[in-house]
Amino acid sequence: MEKWLACFRNYWMIDFIVYRIEIYVLRAPIQTPVKTSFGVMNDRPAVLVRVEDKDGAFGWGEVWCNFPDCGAEHRAGLIESVLAPVVIGHRFIKSVFQELTEVTKTLAIQTGEFGPIAQAIAGLDTAFWDLASRRTASPLYRFLGGQTRSVPVYASGINPDKPVETVERCRQSGHCAFKLKVGFDIDSDIGNIKAVVDTLKAQEILMIDANQAWNLDLAKGFIREISELPIFWIEEPIKADRPADEWIALADFSPIPLAAGENYFDKEIFKTAIDSGSLRFIQPDISKWGGLTGCKYVAEEAKRADLKFCPHYLSGGIGFVASLQLFAGVNGDGLVEMDANQNPLREALAQPFPKLEGGRINLNNEPGLGVAPDINAVRRYLVLHRDIH
Ligand SMILES: [Mg+2]
Repeated sequence: MEKWLACFRNYWMIDFIVYRIEIYVLRAPIQTPVKTSFGVMNDRPAVLVRVEDKDGAFGWGEVWCNFPDCGAEHRAGLIESVLAPVVIGHRFIKSVFQELTEVTKTLAIQTGEFGPIAQAIAGLDTAFWDLASRRTASPLYRFLGGQTRSVPVYASGINPDKPVETVERCRQSGHCAFKLKVGFDIDSDIGNIKAVVDTLKAQEILMIDANQAWNLDLAKGFIREISELPIFWIEEPIKADRPADEWIALADFSPIPLAAGENYFDKEIFKTAIDSGSLRFIQPDISKWGGLTGCKYVAEEAKRADLKFCPHYLSGGIGFVASLQLFAGVNGDGLVEMDANQNPLREALAQPFPKLEGGRINLNNEPGLGVAPDINAVRRYLVLHRDIH
């Protein structure tokens, strides 16, 4: 309990009651679909929440909604019908994440909707942290206790089509770490990895992400083929929910360190994974589970276990900047994921968008997240808006 209190010490000392929640669902068309081993994104969706207290202080949060295609509207409906009635007018004693998780626990079991409910709660939790830090006129990272606003990032989501060209484009934009999607055809995966490795310059690194594509035997077979290559980590080579002993067996076998975390949906699951020793890199997603409260806890547990904290993120701009603020706020020692795919909702939803240079992003020193959505972009891509008070 004490550890949890430490997680939101600054936060619960801010006394506020929210009286208004706005929900925005946005969809931006893209020319090139985003490919993963489990599915394709044909447009870029986002669900934003904006909370406001009686004094007019406000905060923004983002809810993960990349899959399935219809997921954004559904999560907005969960916030409107399930969470907003609980939040409005309520004085939180614990963190938003904790209280809403407790309130919805039975519903989550009954419906089996652990993920969408956790994602909706995550967005609200982040919005409340933004509100709390704006009220103190402090940048969120400093509100959390962070010492530096310079955050190392890597280019992520690199499709299996023409990866060398994509890596070069990312390099030109200021990246020096890259993550390639694998888990498709084994021969072309290996060809892609080798082709990218051949282009790496000194100080550049390459990671690969299988998105849970293989079973243990297939994963071992793939890793055997690439064991000599300089790969910084391999992400989710097997299903995230495979038993810990399977992950440990793979970690013992693999000369390449393992990474996971974007598909863990419970504090105890994170703790088990961290304590198992199978992972070298831990990757919670601020918009998928826990919001800032839960992911801050994971960061602290990772640090205790000497794992690298590498927040996962592949959605819109508010959640991306929240991930940067979280990383800076916990004085993280890993890298933050930065989507390399086209997404008009990344820059447009987080203005002024922080600049990438030399593989790092410098946060500004404005209060809270330090960014806000561009209203014209919101109008252009808006498909649903709810204003609840
Ligand atoms: Mg991944």
